[in-house]
Amino acid sequence: MDQDIEKTLITEEEIQQQCKKIGKQLAEEYEEKFPLAIGVLKGAMPFMSDLLRYMNIHLEMDFMDVSSYGGKKTTSSGEVKIVKDLDTKVEGRHLLIIEDIIDSGQTLSYLVDLFKYRKAASIKIVTLLDKPSGRKANIKADIVGFEVPNAFVVGYGLDFDEKYRNLPYIGVLKPEIYGGK
Ligand code: 5GP
Ligand code: MG
Ligand code: MG
Repeated sequence: MDQDIEKTLITEEEIQQQCKKIGKQLAEEYEEKFPLAIGVLKGAMPFMSDLLRYMNIHLEMDFMDVSSYGGKKTTSSGEVKIVKDLDTKVEGRHLLIIEDIIDSGQTLSYLVDLFKYRKAASIKIVTLLDKPSGRKANIKADIVGFEVPNAFVVGYGLDFDEKYRNLPYIGVLKPEIYGGK
């Protein structure tokens, strides 16, 4: 798998350090709030798993699967579809939305509207990566692990054609892997 990567953007150590820092900060802030951590599948899975283990407080976890990218495409379709909804009621709850990356912002903008409509008490967006250059929707994360340039990145949850999610770091693929030049 490593041989498909042209360049490492963020190392495993850097990711773990950020998870620890953000996790501790959130734990202090949410100690009395019994937050509901909502992971956006599948990309947020490694980040959520590491981040929440640095939060030594009571919290609940749930997952939502929405899609705006399909197959081998590396640009967003702009359409958001719920593939799996939450099992938990969000009314009156303090939500932590955990994301892998914000690019166009369309996925998160849709989710935030949905959770407001469902009467969440508060909503905080926590994203590992932010790609501000790709933004189309008016949305801003409350907590960002790392800013990334306008390139298609993979690893640590982020896929290309469902592969590379299990890479422990964030990198850029060699152009020949996705048929680019
Ligand atoms: P958005 O709705 O903000 O455009 O992005 C939604 C989803 O697109 C992200 O959660 C992620 O799954 C995918 N995505 C956006 N940028 C990238 C990228 O650079 N690499 C990969 N692998 N997925 C991305
Ligand atoms: Mg995502
Ligand atoms: Mg994807």
